[in-house]
Amino acid sequence: MEDAKHIIGRLAPSPTGYLHLGNAWSFLLAWLSVRLQGGTLYLRMEDIDPARSKPEYTDGILEDFAWLGIDFDGDIIYQSKRSDIYEEYINRLSAFIYPCYCTRKELREMAGAPQSTTPKIMTPANRLIMPDTGAIYRRSCRFLTEEQRAQKQNQNACLRLACPPFDEREQEKIPAEIFNLSPDFFFDDLVLGRQHINLNDCGGDFALRRSDKVWAYQLAVSIDDMLTGVNEVVRGNDILTSTPRQLYLFRLLGKTAPAYAHIPLLLDNAGERLAKRHASLSLKALRGKYKSPAPVLQYLAEFINIREDISSAKELLTILQNSGHSSFPWHVLTKLGSAVRTDFQ
Ligand SMILES: [Zn+2]
Repeated sequence: MEDAKHIIGRLAPSPTGYLHLGNAWSFLLAWLSVRLQGGTLYLRMEDIDPARSKPEYTDGILEDFAWLGIDFDGDIIYQSKRSDIYEEYINRLSAFIYPCYCTRKELREMAGAPQSTTPKIMTPANRLIMPDTGAIYRRSCRFLTEEQRAQKQNQNACLRLACPPFDEREQEKIPAEIFNLSPDFFFDDLVLGRQHINLNDCGGDFALRRSDKVWAYQLAVSIDDMLTGVNEVVRGNDILTSTPRQLYLFRLLGKTAPAYAHIPLLLDNAGERLAKRHASLSLKALRGKYKSPAPVLQYLAEFINIREDISSAKELLTILQNSGHSSFPWHVLTKLGSAVRTDFQ
């Protein structure tokens, strides 16, 4: 008998606000996918930014998951407790890392330069999505001399990761197998199909540590996925342009990247991304309004063509299992295009 791969997924909320309906959608799909495959699902609190993360939001997230019936395995992983690990990987990657002294103002000006482009990525539904990539970085600080760096050493610096293509000035310090690496990354998305994204269309050299010494999202996510053996990542397609950056980190560290499922976003009825200002669509508010999660789950289940009465996530899982699914039918999301406007109240 062929050994099926043991799937390891993760729920990775940021406790910087209350979860909303859009978060419920992506966490529900991540949960269904892992549970259908009999895998392991970790809960990782992405509380890396101490100024924005609050215990009340962590508590709220746990209450939301319990209400929806989304369970997880093992102990909760807190990114805020993993600084030593991130530090260790910064050291391992030191040949590729350089300090960037650019101010926000300088970065904004750079991004506004005429040659800057917005990445254009086509989904199977042939709709254009333009995810956040931040300012496109022009490598201004990458080739500073030691003397120039010494002059700036009292300034706050973020730590950036040098991305390909590499320059001949870097040939000595960059390992040969990486030196000729192409900035073009390819991967097979479980929802979007074959993807080809150039790292430079995603902003180029990206930060691994911010100038206020907070670890950057790309670093923490990649290292945590790597060290916990995560091999399936389900997340909104607004994060698509993070994926080549994370694939690059996996490549530099010689590890196999997870499979990715970038799912359609839920937007408000004006087409705006759901955010904290949509207080009425926070799961906390919905828990208060509806005693049972049934209305929320039934609403979300319709997006995957299930129109039966559902009162818990477990029931939704059983319906999928009983219709013969041993893995999530990602193709059902294709009809939704890149985003869906919600009129849920
Ligand atoms: Zn710079």
